[in-house]
Amino acid sequence: MTVTVRFAPSPTGRIHIGNARTALFNWLFAMNNKGRYIQRFDDTDVVRSTQEFADSILYDLHWLGIFPDVTEYQSRRSEIYEAAVERLKAARVLYACYETPEELDLRRKVRRTRGQPPVYGREALTLTPEQVAEYESDGRRPHWRFLLPNFTSDPLQPERTEVHWNDLVRGEETVDLASLSDPVLLREDGTYLYTLPSVVDDIEMGVTHVIRGDDHVTNTGVQIALFQALGAEPPVFGHHNLLTTVSGEGLSKRTGALSIESLRGDGIEPMAVASLAVLVGTSENVTAAHDLGELAGHFDPAATSKSAAKFDPDELFVLNRALMHHMPFEEARDRLIVLGISGDRAEPFWLAVRGNLDRLSDAVAWWRILSDGPQEAAEFSGEDRDFLHQAFDLLPEEPWNGTVWKDWTGKIREATGRKGKPLFMPLRLALTGRSSGPELADLLPLMGREGTLARRP
Ligand code: GLU
Repeated sequence: MTVTVRFAPSPTGRIHIGNARTALFNWLFAMNNKGRYIQRFDDTDVVRSTQEFADSILYDLHWLGIFPDVTEYQSRRSEIYEAAVERLKAARVLYACYETPEELDLRRKVRRTRGQPPVYGREALTLTPEQVAEYESDGRRPHWRFLLPNFTSDPLQPERTEVHWNDLVRGEETVDLASLSDPVLLREDGTYLYTLPSVVDDIEMGVTHVIRGDDHVTNTGVQIALFQALGAEPPVFGHHNLLTTVSGEGLSKRTGALSIESLRGDGIEPMAVASLAVLVGTSENVTAAHDLGELAGHFDPAATSKSAAKFDPDELFVLNRALMHHMPFEEARDRLIVLGISGDRAEPFWLAVRGNLDRLSDAVAWWRILSDGPQEAAEFSGEDRDFLHQAFDLLPEEPWNGTVWKDWTGKIREATGRKGKPLFMPLRLALTGRSSGPELADLLPLMGREGTLARRP
């Protein structure tokens, strides 16, 4: 059977790096198993879901290098869910409940004071036809609960019922169905909660592996029971740890914190985001992979830790710098053209500056310095100014070869007796206006003799 995975966000906001982790775990798993990746939008919550958010999520995924085989929207599939509802009703495992949230709350409190677990007590199963008729005539509409298979013959006497699975990430997992309330699958207004459409789609779409955050571990116990109630074999499950901020807070689509959009805006490369999103919180070293194929080689769901992983945005810059440092000119060329960096000098320029960039767009400042001179004129002491005048007088004639910097500074050293920092720093400041940056040996040929002389203070 073809390995089939899905990433199933609800399109209620921009995705953040934690969502990207889930998407990438699925994508890399499919890559490593020659599988299919389904992009599924869990948009049954029509109030909060929008097409704009779905489109933005697709855009962000493409930016990361994820190109789904299929894209599906749950909002367009209600007929399929209705059929499943009918089957569950016919099997008498979906039952109508009429309690209001306040009544349920009160019951939970009573159960707690009696030392009972705060789960739903299945009172709706004991309603008489007269009571139901009364609720209906009062205008109450039922919501529908799935009867968990946690009893032998009397649902009012639940008993410990273990559901087991071998989790791709966490190994052997167990959920006791008696510790859970029968989940509501359908609301009063006829809309679906996440649980049923998700299972129906996983069956219908032939999903073989469900890889998602570990906030869904308990759901999995319920969903395995639901797969079985619908006569289907449950897929393999894998629950990865969630990412938190450095101070330990969860990430939220709603706040926009660490959204893929904002990281892109900060000039972070997609492979810096992908590498950190996948490798943080695993036993693998966090290094910048060059492409998703390389990252797939470092990806093993079983190497993921079980506890939450702290995510430090500063690490993104470390990875970004590493990517810049090794980025071949061919890869940067088109992006540099967009930034106005082109022509014969573009390639040697790129090779000279890439090791000093935090982000690709920082190349613009260096291009300006080389084309137009230092952006801020440096202040020199009288002594340094004399030294520089002497130095500029010694600048070799053209044509220049690859050793011009060495030749020039050799002559300066001989003539002035200066060496080390007192020799190089005034030159660097005069040539670039900055106290640090790319090797001057690489920059000098890019400025040319005329350009260099124009920088004489
Ligand atoms: N819509 C669910 C979520 O975003 C999907 C969970 C799942 O993958 O089943 O949490």
